[in-house]
Amino acid sequence: MLRVFVEICRYPLGMTGGQIQDEDISASSQWSESTAARFDGDGAWCPDIMSELDGVKEYLQVDLRTLHFITLVGTQGRHADGMGNEFAQRYMIKYSRDGSNWVGWHDRKGRQVIEGNRNAYDVVLKDLEPPIIARFVRFMPVTDHSMIVCMRVELYGCEWLDGLVSYSIPDGHQMIYRGLDVYFNDSVYDGASAERLTKGLGQLTDGTWGLDDFLHSPIYSMSPGYDYVGWSNKSFPKGYVEMIFEFDHVRNFTSMKVHCNNMFSRGVRMFRQATCYFRSGPDWEADPVTLRPTVDRVSQIARFVTVPLGDRTASLIKCRFHFSDLWMLFSEVAFQSGKNGVRCGCVGETFSEASRDDPTHKVDDSNTRILIGCLVAIIAILLTIIVIILWRQVWQKMLEKASRRMLDDELTAHLAIQTQAFSLNHSSLSSEGGSTSNSTYERIFPLCADYQEPSRLIRKALAVGASDSAPHYAEADIISLQESSDSSTYSITAVNMNLFAGTDSSMKEFPRHKLTFKEKLGEGQFGEVHLCEAEGMQDFLDEVLSIEGNNESPLLVAVKTLREDANKNARNDFLKEIRIMSRLRDPNIVRLLAVCVDTDPLCMITEYMENGDLNQFLSNKITLFFFSVYSTLSYSKLIEMAVQIASGMKYLSSLNFVHRDLATRNCLVGKNYTIKIADFGMSRNLYRGDYYRIQGRAILPIRWMSWESILLGKFTMASDVWAFGVTLWEILTLCKEQPYSHLSDEQVIENTGEFFRDQGKQVYLPKPPCCPERVYTDLMLSCWRRNAKQRPSFQEMHTQLMESLV
Ligand code: AMP
Repeated sequence: MLRVFVEICRYPLGMTGGQIQDEDISASSQWSESTAARFDGDGAWCPDIMSELDGVKEYLQVDLRTLHFITLVGTQGRHADGMGNEFAQRYMIKYSRDGSNWVGWHDRKGRQVIEGNRNAYDVVLKDLEPPIIARFVRFMPVTDHSMIVCMRVELYGCEWLDGLVSYSIPDGHQMIYRGLDVYFNDSVYDGASAERLTKGLGQLTDGTWGLDDFLHSPIYSMSPGYDYVGWSNKSFPKGYVEMIFEFDHVRNFTSMKVHCNNMFSRGVRMFRQATCYFRSGPDWEADPVTLRPTVDRVSQIARFVTVPLGDRTASLIKCRFHFSDLWMLFSEVAFQSGKNGVRCGCVGETFSEASRDDPTHKVDDSNTRILIGCLVAIIAILLTIIVIILWRQVWQKMLEKASRRMLDDELTAHLAIQTQAFSLNHSSLSSEGGSTSNSTYERIFPLCADYQEPSRLIRKALAVGASDSAPHYAEADIISLQESSDSSTYSITAVNMNLFAGTDSSMKEFPRHKLTFKEKLGEGQFGEVHLCEAEGMQDFLDEVLSIEGNNESPLLVAVKTLREDANKNARNDFLKEIRIMSRLRDPNIVRLLAVCVDTDPLCMITEYMENGDLNQFLSNKITLFFFSVYSTLSYSKLIEMAVQIASGMKYLSSLNFVHRDLATRNCLVGKNYTIKIADFGMSRNLYRGDYYRIQGRAILPIRWMSWESILLGKFTMASDVWAFGVTLWEILTLCKEQPYSHLSDEQVIENTGEFFRDQGKQVYLPKPPCCPERVYTDLMLSCWRRNAKQRPSFQEMHTQLMESLV
C-alpha cells in the first residue's frame, strides 16, 4: 500500500505507441540520416558519438508536453532485421520541468549511470528509484567511443496532475535515537540546497509514504528514517516549519494532504496547526486558511492529514506547520486543485480522520468531487474497453479470414489427405457415449482456475510488458525480433520453423468408419477426447510403436475431436497442433498416430494413456490417515515421473521447441507409470507472435509462468524450465492444491512484479514436505531464478534428477 502510486503509475508514455510525435523527439546529433531521432527511422537513434571528445554529451531528448511522474524507463538496441548490432551498455538520464534547468538523475545511493543493454534485441527495463517529475527527459549513452551506440527508448509513468513544480523547505535534521543516527534530510531533492532547499522536488513528492515506524523503510535496504523529511522543534524558535509550494499556473485549490508520522512514544507527532497563505499575483494575500487538527494521542499510525484550502486560487502556497512535540516528520505532500487532483483524491480517501474532527472542513464536498471524478474516470475507462473489444473482434475476424485462406492453401500442399469416405462422424461418437454437447467451443474453454486473462491482471501489476506492446522506440516489434533472432533462447528457430513448414509424410488419414467409440476420456480446449478401438491401426504404426507391443487388433486409441461448431480460429489451431505433434518422436511425448481431416469433424488419433492425466492420477493416489495426507506412491516413484518429464522436455529443447504450458494436467500416465507430455495447445500459437486468443481474449496459465512470460510475453526454453519447477512441485505435493493456492490471481501477478523487481520480496512455492532440501534448493529454486540464463537446462535437470534417485 505504501508505494501504491509508484506501483500503479507505470503506463507507457507514448514512444512505443507513437503518441509522441517526431517533433517532440530531438537529439544532439545523429550518426546518419536514417538513424536520426525519429519515430519512423532506421529502428533506433544512433548519435554521432565518435565526435564526442570527452564525457557524456550526446543525448536523445523526449518532450512529453506536460509534466509527468516517470517511474520506469526501457531501452533496446538497434537490430534492423539483422543489419544492426548497436546498443548502449550504459547511459544516464537528465530531466527538466521547464526545459532550461536540467537535473542529472541518480538513484537513492547516488549512482548516475544506468546499466543498459547487452545485445541489440532484449529490452532492458530500469525502475527509476526515485521516480522523476519532468516534462523533458534526455537519454545520454555513456561510451568509451570504441563502438557506435544506438537506442530505442520508452518512458513509463503517468501525468503529474498536482501541477506542483517545486517546493522550498528547510532541509531535514538528524535525530539520534538510542545511539542510532537517523537522517531526516530530503535525500532526493533535485533543486538547490543552501540554508533552505529551493526550486526542486524530492521525497515529499516521490510517491512513497513512510511506515508507522520511521526507523524502517518500505524501500529495500535504505537507512533508518529514509522516507521522512523531519525537523526538530529545538531549531525553530517560532515553533513552526515554513514550506512554500510553487505550481505550474494559477489553480483553484480544494485541499492539501500531508502524510505525517505520529510515533509519539519517540517524540514525533503530527502538526497541531497548519496555516496556509496564497499568492497569485505579486503579493501574499492577507487572509490565510488555518487548520487545527485534533492531535492524535492514541494511535501511532502514520496518516494523511487533510488541510482544506477553501477553493482558494493561487500559483504559490506558503504553509506553516506548527510542532506539537519534539519532532515533526512528513513523507508526502499532495494537492487537490479544482481542475485535477486524481492523485491526491485517491490518497486522501483513506486518511482524512483529522479533517473529519474539524467542523470547518468541507470534507463531504471534496469527497463528493473525488467520487464524481472517479466515477467519470471509470465510465471513460469502461467505454474505452468496449471500443477496444469491438475493434479487436472486427480485427480478429479479418485475421481469421486471412489465416484460414493461407492455412487451406498450406494444407492442400502439405497434408497427405486421402480422399476416403468414412461413416463414423463426430455425432455418432458422441451419441454412443450419450454425451452429445451443444456447448460452443468458446463455452467449453472458460477461464478455468489454471488459466487467466493476462490483460486484466497485468494492468493491475506493472504495466511494463503488455502482450501487444513492447517497450521500445522504433517501428519493429520487439517480441518478434527476439523470437527470430536468438536461436539459443527463443522458441522460433530453424528447427522449430520446420515443425511448421510441412507435415510429416508418415501422418496418414485414418478411415473413420474403422473407429469404434468406447468411452469419453475427457474434455479439452477443442472438444471431447474419446477412447476408441481402431480397426487396422497396426498398418499405420511404424516399427517403434509396433515393437512396444501394440499388436492386438483392434488397438485402443485416444481420439481428440474438434467440436463441430468450433470457429475457424479453433480449427486452424487444431490443425497446427496436428502438424506440431506429427513431427515429434520421443518415448516421453504423446504420439500422434493418424488423423481424420478430410471431412469434419477433424480428429487426431493419439496413443491411449490408460491412467489419464498426471494431475488426476496423483490426486487419486492420496489417502487420508489420522488426518494426515499420505500417498500410495513412494518418493522415488514420484522422482521417476519427474525424470521422464525432464527427458521429454530435453527432447523438445533439443529441437528448440518451447511447450509453453508444461504442467501435470498436460502430462499423461500410461502403463507402469510411463509419463508422456501432451497438449501442444499453447505452443501451436507460436507464430501468431501473440497470446492465445479466443474472441480477442488471451488466457494464460499464470501460476506456471515465468515472470518474463507474464510481463514481457517472452516464452523460451528457460520459461519452460520455470514451468518444470512448478510441475515438479506439483508432483512432490501430489497435486493436493494449486500452486500459490493462498494467493489470488491478482496477487500472483503482483508476485510476478516482485520477481521482476528482485528486491527479495518475491514469494516462492514452499518446499514440499517429502522433498529433500537439496532437491528444493539446487533444483526447484534454480528453475525460478530471475535471470533466465542462470536457470538450469533440461539436460542438467534430467541428470540431476537421475542422480538423486541413486
Ligand atoms: P486435452 O484436450 O488434451 O487437454 O485432453 C483432455 C483430457 O482427456 C485430459 O485431461 C485427459 O484426461 C484425457 N486425455 C487426453 N488425451 C488422452 C490420451 N491420449 N489418453 C488418455 N486420456 C487422454
